[in-house]
Amino acid sequence: MISVSLISLISYFLCVPLTIIMILWLYDDEKSYLKKAVPTQKTMCECDICLYHFTADKEEKFVRCPQCGNLMERKGAKRK
Ligand SMILES: [Zn+2]
Repeated sequence: MISVSLISLISYFLCVPLTIIMILWLYDDEKSYLKKAVPTQKTMCECDICLYHFTADKEEKFVRCPQCGNLMERKGAKRK
């Protein structure tokens, strides 16, 4: 007959469910992170004067800084 100590049984019945819960928790956390990532048509811009960072539409050639109101040409904009 196989003899199993009480400590081994208790540790087994504690560790296995906790490991399963941890794996499910990490999997669910990863799924919720992927849901938050939304593809967008906006890119990051930096103001030449106040160095404020903001997002602007990819198609806009000229963007206005929301912090200081500076109108500037977007770097890397496609020229037509
Ligand atoms: Zn600015």
